[in-house]
Amino acid sequence: QVLLKQVTKTFQNQQVVKGIDLMVPDGSFTVLVGPSGCGKSTTLRMIAGLETTTAGEIVIGEQTVNQLPPGKRDVAMVFQNYALYPTMSVYDNIAYGLRNRGTSKKECKVLVEEIAEIVGLTSYLKRKPSQLSGGQRQRVALARAMVKKPKVFLMDEPLSNLDAKLRNQMRVELTSLHKQLGSTFIYVTHDQVEAMTMGDQIVVMNDGDIMQVAAPMDLYQEPENLFVAQFIGSPA
Ligand code: ATP
Ligand code: MG
Repeated sequence: QVLLKQVTKTFQNQQVVKGIDLMVPDGSFTVLVGPSGCGKSTTLRMIAGLETTTAGEIVIGEQTVNQLPPGKRDVAMVFQNYALYPTMSVYDNIAYGLRNRGTSKKECKVLVEEIAEIVGLTSYLKRKPSQLSGGQRQRVALARAMVKKPKVFLMDEPLSNLDAKLRNQMRVELTSLHKQLGSTFIYVTHDQVEAMTMGDQIVVMNDGDIMQVAAPMDLYQEPENLFVAQFIGSPA
């Protein structure tokens, strides 16, 4: 599990994450949702170790990770602008996830081919990112995270650069990938439809605070406050 205890982030005297408590169960598909600027990315980046915490504690598994660099946290992050290396092949882009791990070339090949199979990229491994569609590029970014076999996947609006059709398709693929891998997903979106259809635990954030944590149906049927009701679009 991932635990946040009174986690706070202050940028230039402004609290953007205000002492949040959150429990992310092992194997869950937890979605952080909320309006632009509410602190979703900052929260995810603190879990990843890309941002320090101003106060509070982050626990992954049994370990408090506040002092650990990103590479030692057993997490992998997938970004919105998935930043593939344009001059490297798909294979090398995926294998890049294994850098600094002392993985042998042979092990590397086995892992990359296994993951490529899962995300449907087997016949594209020799191509350059520029020779792929948007959805295929997004799969390369996913594969690069997957090849590390992390306990926890952190995804920050990974589908927002895709058109509506591809986004729907990738939603379905991500959901089945989650089932297949059995790992924990923490997924950020500002799209309530995406949140409600993909998540098994939804965390509604607003202005640096958590407004409610619930399963999609419970959130819809029993919003705890007006903000959640309006954001999710519950019947009045
Ligand atoms: P969006 O849906 O638009 O991506 P978000 O919920 O991910 O929004 P964050 O990126 O976490 O929001 O930002 C939360 C607040 O923190 C915003 O007000 C933002 O301007 C501020 N912020 C984020 N990063 C920094 C930074 N490096 N320096 C100063 N302020 C920052
Ligand atoms: Mg964001």
